[in-house]
Amino acid sequence: MAFDLDMIKKVYDRYSTRVAAARKATGKPLTLTEKILYAHLSEGNAQKAFARGVDYVDFAPDRVAMQDATAQMALLQFMQAGRPKVAVPSTVHCDHLIQAKIGAEIDLNTAKDTNKEVYDFLASVSDKYGIGFWKPGAGIIHQVVLENYAFPGGMMIGTDSHTPNAGGLGMIAIGVGGADACDVMAGLPWELKFPKLIGVKLTGKLSGWSSAKDVILKVAGILTVKGGTGAIVEYFGEGAQSLSATGKGTICNMGAEIGATTSVFGYDEKAAIYLRGTKREEIAALADTIKEHLTGDAEVYANPEQYFDQVIEINLSELEPHVNGPFTPDLAWPISKFAAAVKENNWPATLEVGLIGSCTNSSYEDITRAASIAQQAVDKHLKTKAEFTITPGSEQVRYTVDRDGYLGTFAEMGGVVLANACGPCIGQWARHTDDPTRKNSIITSFNRNFAKRQDGNPNTHAFVASPEIVTAFAIAGDLTFNPLTDTLTNEQGQQVKLDEPQGLEMPIKGYAVEDAGYQAPAEDGSKVEVKVDPKSARLQLLDPFAAWEGTDLNGLKLLIKAKGKCTTDHISMAGPWLKFRGHLDNISNNMLIGAINYFNGLADSVKNELTGEYGPVPATQRDYKAHGIGTIVVGDENYGEGSSREHAAMEPRHLGVRAILVKSFARIHETNLKKQGMLGITFADPADYDKIQEDDSIDIKGLTSFAPGKQLTVVLHHKDGSTDSFAVNHTYNAQQIEWFKAGGALNIIRKQMAN
Ligand code: SF4
Repeated sequence: MAFDLDMIKKVYDRYSTRVAAARKATGKPLTLTEKILYAHLSEGNAQKAFARGVDYVDFAPDRVAMQDATAQMALLQFMQAGRPKVAVPSTVHCDHLIQAKIGAEIDLNTAKDTNKEVYDFLASVSDKYGIGFWKPGAGIIHQVVLENYAFPGGMMIGTDSHTPNAGGLGMIAIGVGGADACDVMAGLPWELKFPKLIGVKLTGKLSGWSSAKDVILKVAGILTVKGGTGAIVEYFGEGAQSLSATGKGTICNMGAEIGATTSVFGYDEKAAIYLRGTKREEIAALADTIKEHLTGDAEVYANPEQYFDQVIEINLSELEPHVNGPFTPDLAWPISKFAAAVKENNWPATLEVGLIGSCTNSSYEDITRAASIAQQAVDKHLKTKAEFTITPGSEQVRYTVDRDGYLGTFAEMGGVVLANACGPCIGQWARHTDDPTRKNSIITSFNRNFAKRQDGNPNTHAFVASPEIVTAFAIAGDLTFNPLTDTLTNEQGQQVKLDEPQGLEMPIKGYAVEDAGYQAPAEDGSKVEVKVDPKSARLQLLDPFAAWEGTDLNGLKLLIKAKGKCTTDHISMAGPWLKFRGHLDNISNNMLIGAINYFNGLADSVKNELTGEYGPVPATQRDYKAHGIGTIVVGDENYGEGSSREHAAMEPRHLGVRAILVKSFARIHETNLKKQGMLGITFADPADYDKIQEDDSIDIKGLTSFAPGKQLTVVLHHKDGSTDSFAVNHTYNAQQIEWFKAGGALNIIRKQMAN
């Protein structure tokens, strides 16, 4: 499980020089965010980056982390690159596929059984290509990364939206799609639009019931779910330095809920304490040697308005505990106003379940503070009214808090310990309920609370708070209870009040673990066989896509002219299809089934020109493919918006669609299409969209002289014998044109590796 000290040394070796060059070039002091970004620019990108905010810039991240659901396609693709090993240290974490039902041990065994083929694949592919593998039960990706791999001043990408958790230890850590992870593991640069900078100045010091979680609950209330879009949030000030590293991790983790690219704190004594406490003294010692670069410049923090695009100030001494929700994480209520909000809005006041833990809030500090409340329930003869569950973030935390007696305390209070996994946080929760149609309330210390997120039930009102507040509410079973001011009636009929939580930032006896659940990769993976059952419905090895045939594309059939919004969900639906995300052919049966056909206003109903019949999009496309006929998909504005899911680009490519012609693309989807060797083009005149008819035969001309900035031509042969012809634009640069010609970016890497 060893972190890569040599890699960190290399990063730190170049760090000071890069920061000095950036300060000189920009002529100004630098924020921490700028320093880390500048220290990770790919060669030749400095000038673009110094111009700030205007362009996409190439970076060279230090690490990749993948969770089990998204890792499957990322690694299947990586196998296409022909590399013997990953280009940067990478890890896989088995956390998302474990369903919480009964309790840790039984649930974990069930998951190992149900997901055996996926785990076997991930373990063997990791072994072969030099990737660290964290087995099911080892813990949740972000907690494991914080404990083992995050380091101040580093840059990481991860195939999960809460990757920013590592910002608690001063790392720029960004959630991406599997295609990006594949690129970085294959040695390609990683592109990011230079972000806006939001500064959050923390003054004062937390006390009593208030915790780090309340900082991000408050920030979410200020910035809303969209306020951080395109921005990196940098926390600073004496208040920041007073927070534990794990508390900072909580804040950065939940920063995903304001849409931020990521969030980050500077390196300080608390970070050093955590590094030393998690047996990484060498990293703390190295970080100390360049510590002035692992935080923003003093001039920046003295006059933040001059250097950040937006500044927020929060006084921790005045910060009340918050409860956010329901249905959105930015509906922020200070605890003093929450009971009234519950009554006014007629939210169900009876609390049915309290859930603590997850990657967001399962540190030693969190657990000990929550346990101090649980202990009071026992000592003060209070009967816990709601169900209560605990999801440890890692085996190391679970083992340590068990050793120190805290899990026993929760058990006494009536709590159930779940597996070290995502479980209820991602909807992997077989919740016991007598009536799912009843409006009901739950409260969690997780980060997301959109409708149906935890239990799939639209009637569930989910609220988010700190673990100690969740524990207090679980004991009370009543959302109109204010633990700071109210009393509860105990089993002896007495009125008792809960004292303020007490916790420990770090375990006095140190962290311990018997089996952390880590499997190191083979030194030489060349003989390791990747395990994929050819009969598997969930996994399928990929074949390289075919190269371009070297001619214009003539005689294409129109598969669908999509009308209105066509997001990645319309193109490759989630939900029940997620189980096929490692099997390209099976998941392709959802291709474009959500898109609305312009000609009949229906979803998943298009005309098959070979039969004249209307049928589902995937089946129609498979028929064209079987007859060797290429097709084209036509779309509206912002085609492919939504997630970075690469399946939305891979499915049409796999099923034989040759081009996507739209009024405009969502950028990430457009890039994904290019990477897969697909032709993505836009109408030069959006009104030409109206010229496309259902029975057209379509040519795309100009590909033999395909060049950056040079338009292509589309010719429509209508059924009545008439034709239309118009220019179309593209944004392919020279390298991307090579991807198109080779049939995909990975085909090029494979060729390079073979030479
Ligand atoms: S615990 Fe929840 S937020 Fe964290 S990685 Fe798992 S699903 Fe995502």
